[in-house]
Amino acid sequence: MPPASFTVLAHPLAGDLLTRLRDRETGPAEYRALARRLGLLLMTEATRDLATEPRKVDTPLEPFEGSRIAKTVVAIPVLRAGLGLLEAVTELFPDAVVGYLGMERDEHTHEPRDYYSKLPDLAGRKALVVDPMLATGGSGTAAVGYVKDAGADDITFVCVVASPEGLARLQADHPDVPIVAAALDRQLNEHAYIVPGLGDFGDRLYGTY
Ligand code: URA
Repeated sequence: MPPASFTVLAHPLAGDLLTRLRDRETGPAEYRALARRLGLLLMTEATRDLATEPRKVDTPLEPFEGSRIAKTVVAIPVLRAGLGLLEAVTELFPDAVVGYLGMERDEHTHEPRDYYSKLPDLAGRKALVVDPMLATGGSGTAAVGYVKDAGADDITFVCVVASPEGLARLQADHPDVPIVAAALDRQLNEHAYIVPGLGDFGDRLYGTY
């Protein structure tokens, strides 16, 4: 199977928002607002191929053959950083259902461990796995695997920043899962942080630093 598609947002607004998120001077209140706005662009891109069905309506002037969305979106933020992009999904898709997945990274091995999950029915739905920093790819790969095992067959992985290493791992492990990001950064550092990156997304979001 060829590697999964990888899309980087190519829009001046995405670049502006991401630069402000990267800025170390940006505090949590502004950071949360910026993440939500960038999330709107990411989720719009991630649902570009969402199934639709034809729908006839009457405009005030004449009949019109339009379309409506035909698939339920399931947002699955990976705790805790993924919560920063959740509102973007529910704002764009008010009928979305939400599943939560708690993954944490072992500080020493950097390997992921799932510590919480509450997922809705996933069959026949569009699952958006939301994990803002695709760093080693360990938690991203594990999260997608978990969601597949729970019954999802239409998954898109959404992140803010990807590293080349994380991207390669996720594409190798899940070649059927498209990936959407706002940027592909240079590399991981020795602490498995993405550089230039933006630091710890969850800490920046919640001020826990
Ligand atoms: N998680 C983060 O929040 N930032 C990184 O750079 C890597 C993992």
